[in-house]
Amino acid sequence: MVNRKEYLKDYEMRNKEKIAKRKKRYYELNKGRLLQQKKEYRRLNPEKIKQSWKEYYQDNKEVILSYHKEYKQTNKDRIKERGKEYALKIRKRDDFFEPKNKIKQVHSTSKNIGLNNGMWKGDNVGYIALHSWIKARKPKPLNCGHCNVRTNLLDLANISQEYKREVIDWEYLCRRCHMNKDGRINKLLVGLNKQ
Ligand SMILES: [Zn+2]
Repeated sequence: MVNRKEYLKDYEMRNKEKIAKRKKRYYELNKGRLLQQKKEYRRLNPEKIKQSWKEYYQDNKEVILSYHKEYKQTNKDRIKERGKEYALKIRKRDDFFEPKNKIKQVHSTSKNIGLNNGMWKGDNVGYIALHSWIKARKPKPLNCGHCNVRTNLLDLANISQEYKREVIDWEYLCRRCHMNKDGRINKLLVGLNKQ
């Protein structure tokens, strides 16, 4: 009697190419369905997949790490190029979208409230970046947004004092109106700090 398992194993050993060809053909014929199944499986079992990757990594750590090392050494130029592309992508993205966490950070710490507000002083990098971001998107009018005087000296001023990265939260004011407004805010903040 021939052991079925052994027979199959033997068959596989002797017909590797044939089996590979058959598998490939099957895949080609059912590509759409198989990919869909794979996608669905990934969607339904993210934890399972994560776990199996973890196990795979633990079992093959040395091989994987040495592969990475080799890849890094033999593809230095490619990696450099990719890094550049990525940096460019990030820069482009930041130019168009609000980097939410950066702004949030400025607002959420208590030392940024009132007169100590670095944003208000206009001396921190976040403020300068925000200022030029708004400037690039809000066209400068001919007249002051408050008193309507016509002047070339218009300052970009924040309306809500929350320094939102929103064009609508900013206005162009003449020097006098800007100073008046800042003076009012200054008094208000001093008052608040005394309380
Ligand atoms: Zn004015």
